[in-house]
Amino acid sequence: MIQADVLKALNKQVNAELESAYIYLAMGCYLDDEGYSGMGSWLINHAKEEYEHAMKIRDFISDKDEKVTFLPIADPGSSWNGPLDVFEKIYAHEQLVSSMIIDIVKLAREKGDITAEVFLNCFIDEQVEEEKITRDIRDRIKLIGSDKGGLLTYDRFLAQEVTDNISDTAALNEP
Ligand code: MG
Repeated sequence: MIQADVLKALNKQVNAELESAYIYLAMGCYLDDEGYSGMGSWLINHAKEEYEHAMKIRDFISDKDEKVTFLPIADPGSSWNGPLDVFEKIYAHEQLVSSMIIDIVKLAREKGDITAEVFLNCFIDEQVEEEKITRDIRDRIKLIGSDKGGLLTYDRFLAQEVTDNISDTAALNEP
């Protein structure tokens, strides 16, 4: 079993991770429509990671013989003010997710649910990485500024990163 308040918070986190996936999908489609297909595919690909985070928490809840409750996901919106606005918002969103994870860890500690606390350790590490990755992209886009050529070169770089990631994963899955 999972302590009741901790279970409620973990269920909320499943929702938050799925909401992250939904937001990144919407932002990815927006950037793709605006002509930034590399940034778009990077975000659409990153949405899959958020889905995996949700499933990892779902598996933990299920392994502990508890039930997942799926909550409504808010409308992510469909329009932003260019790549910098998108990545500013993504970085802020990742910081918010980090604070949510820390709050659940504090709650688990307070309620004495050591199993949940230990389970969440990997999410703390994950959030350090997520913040760094999204901050780096935000900083790079900020540096490029309004130089369209620079933005499109960086767009191609992110497209290549997605391709490399997919082929790395395919190589790992080869028999
Ligand atoms: Mg996540």
